[in-house]
Amino acid sequence: MRLFGEEKPLQVVESVKGLYAIFTDKSLFAEWLLSINIIIGKRLTKWISRIEADYYIETHSDIDLREAPQAVKRNRLYDEDVLKMRWDLCSSCEHLTEDLRCSICKCPMLSKHKIAHAKCPLNPPKWDRYAS
Ligand code: SF4
Repeated sequence: MRLFGEEKPLQVVESVKGLYAIFTDKSLFAEWLLSINIIIGKRLTKWISRIEADYYIETHSDIDLREAPQAVKRNRLYDEDVLKMRWDLCSSCEHLTEDLRCSICKCPMLSKHKIAHAKCPLNPPKWDRYAS
């Protein structure tokens, strides 16, 4: 049975050599750990920021940027075209209640539609996360 193409065994050998060098050299190993730590740290920071922003929008009917925490400011969407498209979809949706909450996710939509990582809870969603 042939597992690799012509060049693959050489690439595997080079990868193993690279890993051996990392795990046998203290400073390379420390740099490798640091790089992993930075990647994990960035992801955790983003995750915590989204949780904070989600909590804020669930408990506030509109975003007041003078009082909003940094997590909300970091996740706030400023693209007017996308904001208008989201609000047009929500305001004409049968799931929007009189107090401007979504009856599916229970969120106040005046706040939620302004958060970049937010999305409509329907499957498929009427509007999705914002990707710049
Ligand atoms: S988030 Fe989706 S389901 Fe909820 S009101 Fe807006 S468009 Fe409708």
